[in-house]
Order: sequence, then C-alpha cells, then structure tokens
Amino acid sequence: MSTKLKILVPVKRVIDFAIKPRINKAGTGVEKKGVKFSINPFCDIALEESLKLREANKGLVEKIHAVSIGPTKAQDILRTALAKGADTTTLVDVGEEEVEPLNVAKILQKVVEKEQSNLVILGKQSIDDDANQTGQILAGLLNWPQATNASKVEVSGDEVSVTREVDGGADTLKAKLPMIVTTDLRLNEPRYASLPNIMKAKKKPLEKLKASDLGVEIASRLETLKVEEPPARAPGVKVENVDELVAKLRDAKAI
Ligand code: AMP
Repeated sequence: MSTKLKILVPVKRVIDFAIKPRINKAGTGVEKKGVKFSINPFCDIALEESLKLREANKGLVEKIHAVSIGPTKAQDILRTALAKGADTTTLVDVGEEEVEPLNVAKILQKVVEKEQSNLVILGKQSIDDDANQTGQILAGLLNWPQATNASKVEVSGDEVSVTREVDGGADTLKAKLPMIVTTDLRLNEPRYASLPNIMKAKKKPLEKLKASDLGVEIASRLETLKVEEPPARAPGVKVENVDELVAKLRDAKAI
C-alpha cells in the first residue's frame, strides 16, 4: 500500500521575472509601485511538480495545498494556483511586512501541522531576496529529510527519490516520507491556467489567516541598511579584427 501524499506548496508573490527592478528613491529597497507581480518562478515549478505527481500516479496524491505568506494581494497567485489544479489554499496575510526566511519557515511548520502534509515542495529560492534558505530551515524545524535543487522527483510507496544536478553530473538521493524537496529550474515547464479553470477557481477554498493565528511572531532580526544599483558599465568598443583585439587587450594590460 503506498502512502497517500498530502502535498504543501509554499508560493511567494514576487516582482515578475521579466521586469528589471529599480531601487526606490530612499535607497531602502526595490520600487514596488506600478510594478507587475507574479508567482515566484521556482514556486510555479514546485506547483507543477505536485500536479504532475498526481497525473502520473493515479490515487497517489490526496491533496495539494498552496500557501502564501504576503500581502492581501497575494490572493492573486493563490487563485492562479487553484486554477492550475491546487485543491485548497491559505493566505497568511502579513500586510506589507517583509518576512525573513526563519519566520516564513516557522509559519510553514504550523501550516504543515494543520494540513498534516507529508511532502513539502518549495522553490529553491525566491527571485526577490535570493535567500535560498526557507526549505532548508523548514527541514531543520520539522527534523525531516530534505533534497534541494531537484531536477527529477519520483515517488514509490513511502519513498521519494530525487535527482539533483551537481557539477559535472547528477546526484540521486532517496528518503522516506515525510520529506522536503526544493525545485531547480529544469525540473519541469509550468502549465498555464485555462480561462474556464480561472473562472472555476473563484469558487475554490481560500482560507485567510494572520501569523498570530498560528502563534508566530514575524518581527525581523535583520535590518536592511541600504540597497544600491550596480555601478554603470563603461561602454564597449567594436574591433575590426583579432590583431586589433589583442592590441587593445595589451593596452589594457589584460594579457
Ligand atoms: P527563499 O528561501 O526566500 O529563497 O525561498 C525559497 C522558497 O521558500 C520559495 O520558492 C517558496 O517556495 C518558499 N517561500 C519563501 N518565502 C515565502 C513566502 N513569503 N510565502 C510562501 N512561500 C515562501
């Protein structure tokens, strides 16, 4: 008898990957006004993987629950997750507060307990803070095995095997449920939500909670002192041939 999966997929609302972020006037962070936000790409891959596990293994996946910790507007990515095939969702509304990975993981630990999840599939990193920490901290808090940067995930009985791309090859790990997996870019290609499913998703369950409902304090221990643009690059020069290139490199003492 194989264990039924209750998958939790944490999804973060971030500035769309196609947008070039600008620093705000105060130099304290990225300008968020008038900017398009979307689901973090690695979280979209995590959701896709949970849908694929359901489609490839009849009866294996009992429930896919998506959760986001963010502003009220993060409902939009949860509706998209529902339209793609998640069964239920929770928004932990923290307003405009930036929640650091330790506190995100503490909230996720409570949601795992509440939902009785036995597999958590997260993105390997959020493209806004690039922390690459939440999955690892959550595995520590829950004392569950973890496989990070997955490029292939297979479930057999109560065992999960995860292939990871490493320098010069692949590394395959196996662990028993419950388990944490974080997704790499090449794991799959996320689907688009169809219009009929977007309409149907409006009626699917979206629970709203505050961090305090889960007994978690979200006060930050880190303070951002300043955020700066990288220095502007000097313009390049076009050369006509290799000799000219070599001469220029010599002048610049690069060779
Ligand atoms: P990070 O550690 O911030 O790079 O994020 C890694 C992964 O943790 C993301 O891809 C999400 O799956 C999850 N995660 C991080 N922050 C949040 C959040 N605010 N809400 C939901 N999931 C999150």
